[in-house]
Amino acid sequence: MKRENISRENFFFKCSSCGDGYEISLKDFIAKELPKILDLDSNKLVESYKRGNLKFYQSRYINALQFRKAVGKIEAGTMICLCDNLHVIRGFPKIRRTLMLKEALKRHFSGEVAVEEKMNGYNVRIASLDGEILAFTRGGYICPYTTRKAPEILKLDEFFRDNPDLVICGEMVGTNNPYVSHYYPEIGKLGFRIFDIREKLSGKPLPIKKKRSMLKKYNLPSVRLFGVYSLDEAPSEILKLVKKLGEDNREGVVIKDPEMQIPPLKYTSSQAHDDELIYAFRFPFDLGKAFFFSRVIREGFQSYEMQESADEMEKRAQRLGESILYPMIETIKHVSQSDVAGEDLIMDAQSLQEVEEFIGHLHELGVMAVVIKYEDGKAVIRRIHQSTTDKINNYLDGGLY
Ligand code: ATP
Ligand code: MG
Repeated sequence: MKRENISRENFFFKCSSCGDGYEISLKDFIAKELPKILDLDSNKLVESYKRGNLKFYQSRYINALQFRKAVGKIEAGTMICLCDNLHVIRGFPKIRRTLMLKEALKRHFSGEVAVEEKMNGYNVRIASLDGEILAFTRGGYICPYTTRKAPEILKLDEFFRDNPDLVICGEMVGTNNPYVSHYYPEIGKLGFRIFDIREKLSGKPLPIKKKRSMLKKYNLPSVRLFGVYSLDEAPSEILKLVKKLGEDNREGVVIKDPEMQIPPLKYTSSQAHDDELIYAFRFPFDLGKAFFFSRVIREGFQSYEMQESADEMEKRAQRLGESILYPMIETIKHVSQSDVAGEDLIMDAQSLQEVEEFIGHLHELGVMAVVIKYEDGKAVIRRIHQSTTDKINNYLDGGLY
């Protein structure tokens, strides 16, 4: 089927079980075929489409149906890709957080846990759709930058030739990262670390051992596995580990059932909490509220579980306070010099057109950004935080709070 044949109204649907193909309207597809494919109630899907939570998605790469919100067991970020064949790329499930390791691990897992490093970047799902390798962001958008970069960084052809029905889930990390810039000495500008391999339609993850042996076989980079621990030894090992990770400016761990039958949990370092507060309070009126409470709560429970001395607590309190106040004061100073509250991000690009395409993608996500500079295959883009800029200006002019 040619792509031009697909439209919002009608498309050619090839049934994967019987192999027959016929033309169907999108509405009928949602009401009649999609419920069978996803094993979901038709009314729920139709309702979701009406409300705009299930949306027709069109890009230069594919046409698809995008789950903006979860419907039943189908996660937000799930994409029903309407290519020659239909491909379902399930959304990446939310990972819950533990505040008290000792108690939570016992309640949540059984037997042993595998402890992996949690890398700080952005979540990417990579899949091959009828031979074309595409990279999806958490929300289910196809990111032009990641789609271009992932095959440059990773050797994916062989993996997808042998396993077209698997999805690679990983974190894009490094400093030349237009979403989340974080420095890792072993990565530098841009790198990718894989944490899950999942089945397309079911989203089912491979067990840890199988995943690691597969990644080894195809020479693909995995996140670090620190070890597999019994539930008795895990909490104290993780606390030690996370302390050390924090000192090295690293984010934390994800704790997983080795068989991947039980959903994973995450646990992060104090420095990661502070880093996020520093970021949020650079733009207090855009991000402050959403970030603040949860990071402070994490710090409180971590200090308690680590049984900190008065001295250690004081250091934690001081770092926490500085992480909130200093960046905010910097931004007030900056805006007072008639500048905008913005952050500059670096990305590699072979042409200005590529940069502009990425900016277009950000606008689609509701992110305000402009190109500041493009030279020697590198672009600086500025993400503008409008509320922070406007509110600070207003208060500087005497506006009341
Ligand atoms: P969530 O919706 O899962 O809470 P979030 O946007 O709040 O996501 P994080 O707090 O960063 O994100 O935690 C979950 C994310 O951690 C995952 O979506 C994934 O991108 C990332 N991650 C990094 N390393 C790992 C790993 N080893 N295993 C699983 N996920 C990992
Ligand atoms: Mg993250």
